[in-house]
Amino acid sequence: MKTKKYYSFNNLAGCVVQSKSRKTKVLVGLYEGTQSGLASDMPWLIVCEEHSSCVGHYSLNAAKQAMSDTTIWCEKCQENQKT
Ligand SMILES: [Zn+2]
Repeated sequence: MKTKKYYSFNNLAGCVVQSKSRKTKVLVGLYEGTQSGLASDMPWLIVCEEHSSCVGHYSLNAAKQAMSDTTIWCEKCQENQKT
């Protein structure tokens, strides 16, 4: 039986990695859905740690790509970008 890797970046449950958005410079966390305990049907979740908004992705690659620009999926970051 294959054992799934347990993610705990920065001692955060289910956290794969945290990095700053290239566009908005806010901290974004990438989480494994089940391990993080965040309610979602999606296997991978990215969270804007600044505004606590979160969005799910089916693939890890897609989630990683979306981390670089939070204005696409975080409403607060989108508003901040306008000002
Ligand atoms: Zn945000």
